[in-house]
Amino acid sequence: MSVSVDRERGFLDAIGRIADEHAAPNADAVDREARFPAETIDALRETEALSAFIPPDLGGGGVAFETIAAACYELGRRCGASAMIYAMHQIQVVTIVRHLDEAPWFEEYLRRVAGEQRLIASATSEVGTGGDMGRSVAALTPMTDSEGASFEKQAPTVSYGEHADDLFVTLRRSPDAEPSDQVVVLASRDQIKLQQTGTWDPLGMRGTCSPGFIVSAEVLPEQVLPTPFSRVSAESMVPVSHILWSHLWLGIATDAFDRARAFVRAAARQKPGETPPVALRLSHLMSELSLLRAEVSSALSEFNEASAEPGRERLSTLACALRFNNLKIAASEQAPRVCQAALGVCGIMGYKNDTPFSVGRHLRDTMSACLMVANERIHQTNASLLLIAKDV
Ligand SMILES: Cc1cc2nc3c(=O)[nH]c(=O)nc-3n(C[C@H](O)[C@H](O)[C@H](O)COP(=O)(O)OP(=O)(O)OC[C@H]3O[C@@H](n4cnc5c(N)ncnc54)[C@H](O)[C@@H]3O)c2cc1C
Repeated sequence: MSVSVDRERGFLDAIGRIADEHAAPNADAVDREARFPAETIDALRETEALSAFIPPDLGGGGVAFETIAAACYELGRRCGASAMIYAMHQIQVVTIVRHLDEAPWFEEYLRRVAGEQRLIASATSEVGTGGDMGRSVAALTPMTDSEGASFEKQAPTVSYGEHADDLFVTLRRSPDAEPSDQVVVLASRDQIKLQQTGTWDPLGMRGTCSPGFIVSAEVLPEQVLPTPFSRVSAESMVPVSHILWSHLWLGIATDAFDRARAFVRAAARQKPGETPPVALRLSHLMSELSLLRAEVSSALSEFNEASAEPGRERLSTLACALRFNNLKIAASEQAPRVCQAALGVCGIMGYKNDTPFSVGRHLRDTMSACLMVANERIHQTNASLLLIAKDV
C-alpha cells in the first residue's frame, strides 16, 4: 500500500472511531440541549483532524479533499451538528490553502492551525444581504493612528462563534468600495469582540450553536487574504461549501435509511418467511437515497477534475457556477425527502425520539439545508446565469 493510500485510510479509520465513540453517544444530548459537541471536537483535535487538509510542509496531514468530504459523510451518519461544524471549519481551511499565494502571514497561520488545532468559524452572511455571500455591507476601514484596519459586521448566524479560535470574515475592501468588491479577513479570537444579538433555539442543527453577533475587530493588513473574494468564492468557497455540506447531508440521510432498514428487518423477524409490506417502502426509499448519493459523488468528481487543471479556470465558468449551485439545491431538497420517507417506513417508532428507529433529529437537521443560503436566492442567481451562459 502506498504511503498516501495508507495515510487516507488511517485518517478515515480514526474519523470512523470518533464518529462511533464520541459523536453517536452524545448526538441526542447535543440536540436536546442545543449544546456544542465538545467531546467530538476535542477528539478531532486530539487526532489532528482539524489540520488534516493542510499540506505537510506547513505542519498538516496532507490528506486529499475527497477524504475530507468522506469524513464529513462519516460524522454526518452519527451527529449532523458535529459534521456541520467539522465541514464549516474545513471550508475555511481548504479555501485558505487553495488561495495562499505564498502569503507569509497565512502560511504561518496554517502552521498555527496545525500546531494548536485551532477551530475556525465564519461570518459571511450579513444582516442586509442575508445569504448573498457575494455582497457585503460592512467594510474594512483603515485606522488613522496605525497601519491596521477595523471592521464591525452584523452577522445573523455565526456557528460555534463562542467556541472558535478564529473567524473568517467577508467585508467590503474599503469604506468606498462597491458591495461586491470584497476581501476575506482572518481575525483571531483575541482580536475579536463578539456581542451576541439573539438566541439559538432552532428546529435542527442545534449543536452548531449559531446565534447572531455583532462582530468587531482591529486587524493588520497581512490578515487580508491576497486573492479577491470574487475569485476565492468561485474557485473554492462556493463549490467546497456545497460539496462538504452535501456529503454530511448524505451521511444524515444514510443513517435515516439504515434505521428504516433495521426497522423492516425487525418486522421481518416477527413473521419468518414473509416479506413485510413495509419492505416495499424501503425499496422506494433506497432509490431516493441512490439519487442523492449519485449527485453528491458526481459533483465531487467534477470538482476534483476541474481543480486538477492548470489555473483551475474551469471553476470560474458560468457552467461550473450552475453545476455546484445545482448540487446544493438538489442535495438540500433530497436529504430531507429521504429522511421523511424513512419516517414513513418506521411510523410511530421513527416519530418517537427515544427508539432505535427515531429519525426526528435527522429530519430536523436536514431541514436546515435549504436555508443555508436560501435555495430561492440560488435559483435567482441561476436564473440570471442561464440568460447569458453559453457553455451550458
Ligand atoms: C444551521 C445554520 C448555520 C449557519 N451558520 C452560518 C455561519 O456560521 N456563518 C454564516 O455566515 N452563515 C451561516 N448560516 C447561513 C446564514 O445565516 C443564512 O443563510 C442567511 O442568514 C440567510 O438568511 P435568511 O434565511 O433570512 O435568508 P435570506 O437570504 O435573507 O432570504 C430571506 C427569505 O427570502 C427568500 N428569498 C431570498 N432571495 C429570494 C429571491 N431572489 N426570490 C425569492 N425569495 C427569495 C428566502 O427564501 C428566504 O425565505 C447558517 C445557516 C444555518 C441554517
